[in-house]
Amino acid sequence: MKNFCSKRSTCRLCGESNLELVLPLKPTPIADHYVTIEQQHIIQETYPLDLYLCESCGHVQLLDVIDPEILFREYSYVTSVSSGLVRHFQEHSNQLIERLSLSPRDFVVEIGSNDGSFLKFFQEAGIHVLGVDPALEVAKKAVASGVNTLPSYFTAEVAREILQDFGPARVICANNVFAHIDNLRTVVDGVYHLMFDDGVFVFEVSYLVDIVEKMLFDTVYHEHLCYHSIKPLCTFFNMVGMELFDVERIPTKGGSIRCWVRKAGHSKPVADSVQLLLDLETELMLDKVHPYKHLLRRINAIKHQLLVLIEDIKLRGLKLAGYGASATVTTLLYHFEMTDVFDFLVDDNPRKHNTYSPDKHIPVYSSDVIYEQQADYVVILAWPYAEVIVQRHKNFLDQGGHFILPFPEVKVL
Ligand SMILES: [Zn+2]
Repeated sequence: MKNFCSKRSTCRLCGESNLELVLPLKPTPIADHYVTIEQQHIIQETYPLDLYLCESCGHVQLLDVIDPEILFREYSYVTSVSSGLVRHFQEHSNQLIERLSLSPRDFVVEIGSNDGSFLKFFQEAGIHVLGVDPALEVAKKAVASGVNTLPSYFTAEVAREILQDFGPARVICANNVFAHIDNLRTVVDGVYHLMFDDGVFVFEVSYLVDIVEKMLFDTVYHEHLCYHSIKPLCTFFNMVGMELFDVERIPTKGGSIRCWVRKAGHSKPVADSVQLLLDLETELMLDKVHPYKHLLRRINAIKHQLLVLIEDIKLRGLKLAGYGASATVTTLLYHFEMTDVFDFLVDDNPRKHNTYSPDKHIPVYSSDVIYEQQADYVVILAWPYAEVIVQRHKNFLDQGGHFILPFPEVKVL
């Protein structure tokens, strides 16, 4: 059988091999590969999920890389199903059009353009756009809705072809994809050559500070190869003749950064925001081993508490369900060694209903099932959404059910 996982030995950003294992999580299957009843016979392998710190530049990353053909070609999530995300993109596109005074002469390219939800807003303003996305079905949907999209990975070579066919871009965007790319160097080389000399590269990505401070360790899964912070990004862009000239912290995905990058040698100064976050990262010692060891201790203490609680529930012969069936839930279940304790999982995403969790094949239903099946306890595995979930299911508590919140500390409601 083909091996779908390879391990790199150098830092993805600076190329050095000074790498220290700082957050060893338990191996997991591919986190979002929930299967249908017909696919239940498929054996799903688990792969190492270890986070390394580059002691040369401070970049935090996975070194075990799963073949992107397995991860992304059949990727089917479309942005337009999330009204929150679409609103976010509308505001972001307005900001870009205004700040960079974009006009119909301009050309905007998006890397990982999904169903074209973001580019549509530029198109509506009369601006030329091109999306690039390797997920075949999703790219097809974008084209069908009128957004020109190449069903491809963005590489230096693809960038050259775009340059030949369409000319240079004024703006290149990449939202929630900069963490997913193993060969960031070829992407950024492509960006450099495709962009006008006064062009701007803007990308949004989860922020390592939020991951560490809010214990969002379950956002670590194989699709996310990089856990970005400003210091290593500044070094990286300097190496390729570019500079990070502004950064904003934004609430997306529990805490992200929007990074503004241009070619080096610009006369305008770099915004103070960059130095402010560099100072914050130094204060938190993000380029040292310590904060990750501390994070692991905090996570494992919660794991221990939760397992004691669950053991007691199981000994009493009570029914236990989990709320949430997403990629983050897979990391949580495996690291907490809770893959065999749930009678079933529930989720509010209809696409997950009547599927089975990766590898262990725990059934997933709609949240009504916690009433139908009379669950006694429900662990909120999608814990960043705990407030909304508890609000929505007051009846469950009124009927004598209990919710268990794992984070930020174990709590029974
Ligand atoms: Zn490095």
